[in-house]
Amino acid sequence: MEKVLVTGAGGQLGTELTNALREQYGTDQVIASDIRPLEGELTAGPTAVLDVMQAQAIDDLIAKEKVTQVYHLAAILSAVGEKKPRQAWDLNMQSLLSILDIARERQLNKIYWPSSIAVFGPDTPADNTPQSTVMNPNTVYGISKLAGERWCEYYYMKHGVDVRSLRYPGLIGWKTLPGGGTTDYAVDIYHKALDNGNYSCFLREDSYLPMMYMPDSIASTLQLMNAPVEQVKVRSSYNVGALSFSPKEIAESIKKHLPDFDISYSPDYRQGIADSWPNAVDDSQAREDWGWNHQFDLDTMTEDILSNLRRLREASK
Ligand code: NAD
Repeated sequence: MEKVLVTGAGGQLGTELTNALREQYGTDQVIASDIRPLEGELTAGPTAVLDVMQAQAIDDLIAKEKVTQVYHLAAILSAVGEKKPRQAWDLNMQSLLSILDIARERQLNKIYWPSSIAVFGPDTPADNTPQSTVMNPNTVYGISKLAGERWCEYYYMKHGVDVRSLRYPGLIGWKTLPGGGTTDYAVDIYHKALDNGNYSCFLREDSYLPMMYMPDSIASTLQLMNAPVEQVKVRSSYNVGALSFSPKEIAESIKKHLPDFDISYSPDYRQGIADSWPNAVDDSQAREDWGWNHQFDLDTMTEDILSNLRRLREASK
């Protein structure tokens, strides 16, 4: 029987991934943890307040609860990382190394750790970015994710730790607000479109970035984690793709439902981060190795998000 620990479970990804893991393994088998007390639907199952900077506390919880798998999501993301570079490096690296060491010592079954398209940099081919290519990230977040990928592969090769990873594009969900990334505009824009009818975007209208709707993000994660070990051939991190669009294109997709919606552009420091990242990634290896296939395109995602947000607004009236 698997027992799963999720770190950073209160975040944008963790909230939805924890629910999906509870569906797969059973509510009581998945512990949702975060540095802050969790609320809402996450409290339907076991929860813990856990600071991933406290290696001993992680080890104690894993031992006490007989945890067999860890989904290590806690991190500082790209935009916040540029404001707090040293803190981002310390959190993102130290916590991963602690969990890899515990996995090795306690012979845990599997570890999941998300990487990001932020591992790529301005020297990387921006279109159809290959799985293996020049990286040279120039954000602290990207540097920490690239170093993390190398550590994951190292622990697999040297110590047999079955750690698996995806280089997520920008993740777009409607259930929670994002935590300080460069692709956050693609979440905020739907809320502002419904609430104000307009949105001021912090990226240029023609800034293409790889993106993915949350149901596809959850599906890709579970598909990778449930794949037989011999199908997982990349032990750094897999490129996974779904969508690539610009702020102008997402605005056009929204206008199909809200014709009066208006967007303006005032790029800030996040434009520089976006410019250093790919426009779209080549994820053929994930598709070949373990059958990755996304479901949502831009218009089906827009329709789904707007109808869910409208439903929530109606329900809270
Ligand atoms: P988020 O910022 O929404 O959530 C992060 C969570 O970590 C928060 O709930 C926060 O309270 C928690 N946390 C922060 N410091 C902690 C600590 N010391 N101990 C325990 N918990 C702590 O982030 P997210 O969007 O859910 O991202 C989850 C993971 O996915 C991260 O590793 C991120 O790098 C990766 N990722 C996200 C995206 C995206 O677009 N959201 C894209 C690529 C990769």
